[in-house]
Amino acid sequence: MTTTAQFTHYLQDTKPMQDAKLTAKSHATHSSVVALNEQVSVGDRDLLIIGGPCSVESLEQMETIATRLGHQTVQALRGGVYKPRTSPYAFQGLGETGLTILDRVRRRYQLPVITEVMAIHQIEAIAAYADALQVGSRNMQNFDLLKALGEIDQPVVLKRGLAATVQEFVMAAEYIAAHGNTNIVLCERGIRSFDPYTRNVLDLGAVVALKQLTHLPVIVDPSHAAGKRELVPNLARAAIAAGADGLMIECHPVPEESVSDARQALSLEAMADLVESLRPIAAAVGRSVPTANGDRRQLALV
Ligand code: PEP
Ligand code: MN
Repeated sequence: MTTTAQFTHYLQDTKPMQDAKLTAKSHATHSSVVALNEQVSVGDRDLLIIGGPCSVESLEQMETIATRLGHQTVQALRGGVYKPRTSPYAFQGLGETGLTILDRVRRRYQLPVITEVMAIHQIEAIAAYADALQVGSRNMQNFDLLKALGEIDQPVVLKRGLAATVQEFVMAAEYIAAHGNTNIVLCERGIRSFDPYTRNVLDLGAVVALKQLTHLPVIVDPSHAAGKRELVPNLARAAIAAGADGLMIECHPVPEESVSDARQALSLEAMADLVESLRPIAAAVGRSVPTANGDRRQLALV
């Protein structure tokens, strides 16, 4: 006999599989590979390492990061220009000036760039200047924004909401897919819990589950989960061991001087050391960390 409690549990257990159509594992014969540009993709054997500051602050800052980390350590750059800040009095991002900085760096260094979109009216400009659009945690269930992102072709990096269940996360991705864009990358960035010691709790169980439930690439952002730079490297290594397809990590030429999220930013040296340390872990799980001498670099130089 099935009790109500068992039945509820059964529904919760199977709902993502039942409701998600286009993003469900059963919809595709293979895991999806999402291309950020002609050289760089995520979801294949090679891991995707994305690095950069929380906020784009200046051209010099972004050029320093691209020069020091580009291709050898990271295959893509991140940097927010429209920032979702808790306080309206905090730095809100450079806006369009920041977009032109990202565009300059992506062309000059042949590195794809990813930046956050907060509103529908920003989509056109961001799509013109960036390779992938990030939906931040605070907007994971902004359904109008998700629908509008379904109308474009560019990849969308969808971050898990601060308190979103795995099912809600999958269904948010389904909104983008249902409206026409299946270039979606899921990003686990920690969920809110009772303990402020870590800013959020990195949910590696969700990473494993998302890989089983969907065919989409899943990356991990250990920076916003940790909130403290000293926690980031081990969380990043654990994420790769758990089967993540890549990482998005905040780093800065002078971490203490970051205009936002300074406490969690890695130095560029620490970022390079971290990526080197991933190699044996990646190999152990059948993945690899791209090298500057690999195909991507040669293609990028053409
Ligand atoms: C960010 O990536 O800078 C950011 C604001 O992340 P999240 O939406 O995960 O808080
Ligand atoms: Mn940040």
